[in-house]
Amino acid sequence: STQIRLARRPVGWPVHEDFETVTVDYDAPAAGEVRVRNEFVSVDPYMRGRMNDVRSYVPPYQLGDVIAGAAVGRVVASAADALPVGTAVLHQHGWTDVIQADAAKFRAIEEVPGLPLSLRLHMLGMTGLTAYVGLTTIAGMRAGDTVFISGAAGAVGTAAGQIAKLLGAGRVIGSAGSPEKVALLTDKYGYDAAFNYKEGAVRKQLANAAPDGVDVFFDNVGGDHLEAALASMNDGGRLALCGAITAYNTTERPVGPTNLANMITRSLSMQGFTIGSHWDKLPEFTEQMSGWFGAGKIAYDETIVDGIDNSVDAFLAMMRGANTGKMLVRIGE
Ligand code: NDP
Repeated sequence: STQIRLARRPVGWPVHEDFETVTVDYDAPAAGEVRVRNEFVSVDPYMRGRMNDVRSYVPPYQLGDVIAGAAVGRVVASAADALPVGTAVLHQHGWTDVIQADAAKFRAIEEVPGLPLSLRLHMLGMTGLTAYVGLTTIAGMRAGDTVFISGAAGAVGTAAGQIAKLLGAGRVIGSAGSPEKVALLTDKYGYDAAFNYKEGAVRKQLANAAPDGVDVFFDNVGGDHLEAALASMNDGGRLALCGAITAYNTTERPVGPTNLANMITRSLSMQGFTIGSHWDKLPEFTEQMSGWFGAGKIAYDETIVDGIDNSVDAFLAMMRGANTGKMLVRIGE
């Protein structure tokens, strides 16, 4: 098995020297164990936070740890009745091509004919649930609301725009970092308007796209996007803070919005959330999302990097915006 481990804590943008590639040989599985060959491994923005030695909602990786995170694969050797050879599983063992561990550390997943296992790592999994919970539980989105989503062309963003529309949002606006992504948002993902945040001030572009103001802001980005949203919010508006990727790789203290007082004058509410506290919504989400999927109402994109050895590159490329939809590492035969 080839595993990617944390060798050193990154400062600012991670570099290759912060990681090491280690080869591990396994004996035959002991009683209760299974061996899983991964098919897709997820690279996620939150992993950057876990590389720092700071208090957060998940404990930091320790030096020498495999970069833990979601992956899907198939049982290739089994000494556990619950997970026979061939079972498709979801787990959190992260950046490795093969993993052998206690069967309790893997969850069997139902395979949907015609759909790739990888969907369990985004639209039919954690990032889809994040979009759903952010819009419903956190932002209390109502039919007719104007919704603004930052980071709209990524994994969470492509889910959020479609879910907002399917739940009856009036106008959905997205921002992303390239003309191709902006075109995709309106052509494929049902956004009513979209803009490239690199082409001009977010505040001005958002004001143009939302002439009647914004009722719900779903934020993946922070920084100038949060400030722009605060400037465009309607009275009683709700802001769901999902991520702040502008700050993940900076070494400087991020600057806060200068217009936070709009929270008072417009009676706004702002709530941050982490999806780990909302797994109770998984059955409700799965039912809704499977229904939409089955009805052909959900589009998705995957940006795929091949080979476990390229996990670090995939992770860095994702944080630089190389992905459309979900960034994944695919493990070949
Ligand atoms: P994405 O697929 O959205 O990938 C990250 C994207 O961020 C890139 O594609 C890039 O797109 C964009 N980006 C990078 N730097 C900047 C910048 N300086 N300004 C604006 N956009 C930038 O990742 P995910 O969908 O997995 O995650 C999206 C967000 O949601 C992250 O902030 C993540 O931390 C958060 N998240 C939070 C969860 C929670 O429980 N609260 C759970 C899951 C995710 P572009 O080309 O448009 O710049």
